[in-house]
Amino acid sequence: MAATAPRVANTPVLDAERVRRDFPILDRTVNGRPLVYLDSGASSQRPVAVLRAVEEYETHSHANIHRGVHALSQAATEAFEGARERVRRFINARSTKEVIFVRGTTEAINLVAQTYARPRLKAGDEIIVSELEHHANIVPWQMICEQTGATLKVAPINTRGEFLFDEYVKLLSPRTKIVAVAHVSNALGTVLPVKKIVDAAHAQGAVVLVDGAQAVPHSHVDVRALGCDFYAFSGHKLYGPTGIGVLYGREELLQSMPPWQGGGDMILTVSFDKTTYNDLPAKFEAGTPNISGAVGLAAAMDYIESLGLDAIAAHEHRLVELASAELQKIPGIQLIGTAPNKASIVSFVMDGVHPHDLGTILDHEGVAVRTGHHCAMPLMTFLGLPATVRASFAVYNTANDVKSLVSALGKAREVFG
Ligand code: PMP
Repeated sequence: MAATAPRVANTPVLDAERVRRDFPILDRTVNGRPLVYLDSGASSQRPVAVLRAVEEYETHSHANIHRGVHALSQAATEAFEGARERVRRFINARSTKEVIFVRGTTEAINLVAQTYARPRLKAGDEIIVSELEHHANIVPWQMICEQTGATLKVAPINTRGEFLFDEYVKLLSPRTKIVAVAHVSNALGTVLPVKKIVDAAHAQGAVVLVDGAQAVPHSHVDVRALGCDFYAFSGHKLYGPTGIGVLYGREELLQSMPPWQGGGDMILTVSFDKTTYNDLPAKFEAGTPNISGAVGLAAAMDYIESLGLDAIAAHEHRLVELASAELQKIPGIQLIGTAPNKASIVSFVMDGVHPHDLGTILDHEGVAVRTGHHCAMPLMTFLGLPATVRASFAVYNTANDVKSLVSALGKAREVFG
């Protein structure tokens, strides 16, 4: 992924001050201070283009999709299916049949676990995850292991937060059926060598799911170039609405999988003797979907591409470098996660101060960061830490935000001594 390897020559420059004007929420104050939003890794803010697209759809075009002959239903269907084509182009999938709308990354991974893995795996089979995964990419696989008798293996990392590729390769064998890894770590920002991970897994006949929740907002993701079998992400980390996300799956695999949930839209015919299922992607989309969410997600993708993903990656890379350098000058601050290839995230701790207390002080100063285990408790156990403070950067952050963070940390240092 190019997130931390910006093309130096000809890299378009992102005018973050202008971009900020697209995000009305950034004008508000928090605790009497201008908001400094450094929690986009948890959920990014929405630009006006997304807010308006959702409003426009809800105001003028809403009806239920697919089954209606009336004009509004057709308009809504067009908007929803148009959004699917937008997603296909964004990730370079072969066909819209490979784009399944879900609630988010969590649902996408559970879908694959329950419909791909559960019917196939048995005792003796193995699933590999990495040590830095989000709980959403651990727990569904643990459930599969309980349900099938398969075993979960953990590919290790080092103390800098780097994925140990050679150790991972040693875990691979014909017993490996599934490899499930993050593209970018949500707790540390490490970019994993996904293409290499996929190629090595395929050599053993395993399929690979990539948790792309933290990758799609920060760099070009091309599922065909990566060669992965499944790719999952959420709209709300990509400047889109909550409650919408995407599961990309290779068509051949999705065809071979049973439906996820039963209900309307996922069927062709229903009788009490036999039900036949709809074709892809409807087979995996039972019930009324989040139509305005899909519309908002498509608008978010238009917005991101209008800024340019290379420009976004280069901009965020500069902020990560700046923040890392400045934070290290503050006495007692230790950076957590210092892999050379990182995207958009700076995690740290301050000696003698619990991250939650630090987060509270920062909030008093208007600086929003995330503190805690970041839904990666096994990673925290490996690092020997209960929690970290995480600043995560997005298109609308500037060097001024880094300055505000540093100054608020300086105040915290005074308070805690
Ligand atoms: N995986 C990663 C790497 C994440 O950062 C997150 C969100 N923090 C998730 C999965 C879960 O995403 P969601 O809550 O949108 O389903």
